[in-house]
Amino acid sequence: MTLSGTIFDIKKFAIHDGPGIRTTVFFKGCPLNCWWCHNPEGLKAELETLSVRVRSADSNSPHADKKEIVGHQVTVETVMEEIEKDVIFYDQSGGGVTLSGGEPLMQEEFLCALLEACKSRRINTAVDTSGYARWTLFERISGLVDEFLYDLKLIDDEYHSKYAGVSNELILENLRKLSEKEEKVIVRIPMIPGITDTGLNLEAIIGFLAPLKSIREIDLLPYNKLAEDKFKKFNMTSKLGQLPAQTEMELNDKAELFRVHGYSVKIGG
Ligand code: SF4
Repeated sequence: MTLSGTIFDIKKFAIHDGPGIRTTVFFKGCPLNCWWCHNPEGLKAELETLSVRVRSADSNSPHADKKEIVGHQVTVETVMEEIEKDVIFYDQSGGGVTLSGGEPLMQEEFLCALLEACKSRRINTAVDTSGYARWTLFERISGLVDEFLYDLKLIDDEYHSKYAGVSNELILENLRKLSEKEEKVIVRIPMIPGITDTGLNLEAIIGFLAPLKSIREIDLLPYNKLAEDKFKKFNMTSKLGQLPAQTEMELNDKAELFRVHGYSVKIGG
């Protein structure tokens, strides 16, 4: 039987989703609902039909509405064909494949089959996760994943529930366990002005990570204003409103908070 899954994009030559040059596969469906989500196409698990306003050639009616399907049902073989086209670039750059989303752990069998197919072809694998999945699933995939890109948003559980839609208890617990297993984990922190990038939250993250000795790398992901346009396309209203993006100097100051504790920090992933 051919196994299939639902994705919304495959991005080639990605350089911010793990080491080297990568192909990133974006899975559809996420159990969280972050106020700042820059991939609203990834929130719903099923295919969606959008009505998009486009320019029309008719001068009497300059705009027309066009239907656009968001997402594709794809087989493991189809995705692997795309992935394998760029093996030469992975080999030259130390790159590989990143499975992202949405939340890739929501499509367990499809995820496992893709990881197994990559491993059998000796392609480096990264999984970009919210951490919100049962531990046994992390155990199942751990031998197939070269590194986890693990999102850490807010340590205060009340704020986490408010801004990401779920409690962070499971997320923090899974991160502790991955560290105990000495899995390679890069913690990625979305820097949302006044919400996740506050001194209070970043110090709380440093405090949480302190006992997790195997985690030494942090990516700070600058706030991405582009998401606001995508929200409009999906007829969704961004609850964030207009936020100013951080300056380079502000981001460097935040990075320094981690560096003084010995972490290797990248701005931008
Ligand atoms: S975890 Fe990521 S994909 Fe899911 S809602 Fe949050 S930002 Fe969006």
